[in-house]
Amino acid sequence: MAKRPDAVHELLGAVWSKAVERAKEERDALVAEARHEGGNFPFAAWDWRYYAEKIRKARYDLDEAELRPYFQLDNMITAAFACAERLFGLTFRELPDAPRYHPDVRVWEVRDAKGGHVGVFLGDYFARPSKRSGAWMSSFKSQHAIGKGQRPIIVNVLNCVKGNDGEPALLSFDDARTLFHEFGHGLHGLLSNVTYPSISGTAVSTDFVELPSQLYEHWLSTPEILGRFAKHVKTGKPMPEELRARVKAARNFNQGFATVEYTSSALVDMALYAKEDTSALDIDAFEAETLARIGMPAEIVMRHRLPHFMHIVGGYAAGYYSYMWSEVMDADAFAAFEETGDVFDAKLARKLKDYIYAAGNRRDPHEAYVAFRGRTPRIDGLLKKRGLAA
Ligand SMILES: [Zn+2]
Repeated sequence: MAKRPDAVHELLGAVWSKAVERAKEERDALVAEARHEGGNFPFAAWDWRYYAEKIRKARYDLDEAELRPYFQLDNMITAAFACAERLFGLTFRELPDAPRYHPDVRVWEVRDAKGGHVGVFLGDYFARPSKRSGAWMSSFKSQHAIGKGQRPIIVNVLNCVKGNDGEPALLSFDDARTLFHEFGHGLHGLLSNVTYPSISGTAVSTDFVELPSQLYEHWLSTPEILGRFAKHVKTGKPMPEELRARVKAARNFNQGFATVEYTSSALVDMALYAKEDTSALDIDAFEAETLARIGMPAEIVMRHRLPHFMHIVGGYAAGYYSYMWSEVMDADAFAAFEETGDVFDAKLARKLKDYIYAAGNRRDPHEAYVAFRGRTPRIDGLLKKRGLAA
């Protein structure tokens, strides 16, 4: 989607300068903490995590045990479905007798607002021996319209822990976000409306594919969804406003550091692939020069230094920027909803479906985004999301 290195630099550069600014403020707070404890040494990169963890614990500690009771797996599945119903008119009917590859797997038929068959959605939520760890979306059948056409069969795989003896399974907030993330990929597969299988659903550019999934995560944190579905497993009471605020504050903590750590790796990755002659490349010197040029704070180390950044060859190959690229878009896309005053705005949801979720790779992703948003992506949403805005 980015097409030119310039486009990446323009976008990452703007995020970079804001992140460095914030990281310096964070550093000053960490140094103050170290001094406060009587530490009178020059603060260095290896001190960061230690002092950041102290401050995090003191100011933002979220007790996992306090949060979990609000995130019942079944409620979060219902929440993800409810969100899809409000945005895209989809309904989900469980098919208890449908064939499945493991008894834990649940199967739903997905229908559109007019009752038409959209596809089949499988949820394989629980960890079990022999199952690969992590979370992902995959399709057993992709949508296409050749001949009689084919509707998709989509699966979301997670690794949640089952509840004890008949008790409901509870999730961490991160797990709940992962569920929404994978369901966003799932919708990208389910809503696909293209002719050819090669451009169906998630068969889009690497720097575009995380947009539908990362965007979907935003709805989880809205009062409409959290308020309705994050209910205490014992009392049935919704999550208190105060706890919701703490979750948000904890998420923004140390984001200057996190953004600098990631973005420096992305910028160095880009710089390396911009070199035409690498025959006499001294990789350590190159890394040091590049970091000096972009103004890397001395107290932060890149997330992936070149000698250990295995994926940089063959894998990312000047593509590590794509996470941030997608995040700029997901934040900007969600801001579009916020700007209407209704995070389920019907007119905008219609565009989102037509130009993003249903479009597969049938048109240029930049054009598709502009058709949805009415303009090119801006970084303001991301700065707000990461707490980097002034
Ligand atoms: Zn993803």
